[in-house]
Amino acid sequence: MIVAIDGPAGSGKSTTARRVAERMGWLYLDTGAMYRAVGLAFVEAEQPFSSECAAKLMPGVSVDLDPTATGLRVLLNGEDVTAQIRTPEAGKAASKVAVLGDVRRRLVETQRRIAHREVDAGRGVVLEGRDIGTVVFPDADVKIFMIAELAARARRRYDELKAGMNGDTPSLDVISDELAERDQRDAERALSPLLPAEDAVLLDTTSISVDEQVERVLSIIDDRRNNTE
Ligand code: C5P
Repeated sequence: MIVAIDGPAGSGKSTTARRVAERMGWLYLDTGAMYRAVGLAFVEAEQPFSSECAAKLMPGVSVDLDPTATGLRVLLNGEDVTAQIRTPEAGKAASKVAVLGDVRRRLVETQRRIAHREVDAGRGVVLEGRDIGTVVFPDADVKIFMIAELAARARRRYDELKAGMNGDTPSLDVISDELAERDQRDAERALSPLLPAEDAVLLDTTSISVDEQVERVLSIIDDRRNNTE
């Protein structure tokens, strides 16, 4: 079974997708981490975020997600970049490379390959991103689009950064502006814009807990399985 969870930054997708996958014993695929790793590849190569550079750089870039007991390890050309890709700068770089066709084509192909491998082995996969239900798997068995008010999303991101960063955490206002700017770029781009699929279930997480989000998604999966058996 393929479960697609899309939505804007900070809507609760990652935590929910990871926990749902854990509960089901399925693979969790964080597609945003892949765009972040490619963003980092551009920054490290000191290249502008242009189509010309994507055509030049992408053949030499490999991104892998390695599931471990403590979570997904993100590898860029074999190097562990799991921590490095979690900064607001990496998020911004991700959304800039995410408008480029060469980047999207390559990552979508990898996402489909990994997911098919799981399904062929009789397992499920929970993919989380912006275009999973619309482009990567338009025939996904379950499609969920998570939304939340900007203030709630900024607060979550702020708490996450505060818990995970040793240095200075950007202020709530800076984080809120960064999320709004990134969402706008994601929603307005020509290729695979951030958009709910017509048949996606909308889940507003502004005032529900993570536990509730997980239970809601599990119950949608359950309904779907009962209806197809
Ligand atoms: O989900 P996360 O915030 O880590 O994603 C980082 C960026 O990667 C997003 O802002 C978006 O521009 C891009 N992205 C995308 N398509 C996906 C996942 C992420 O364009 N499926």
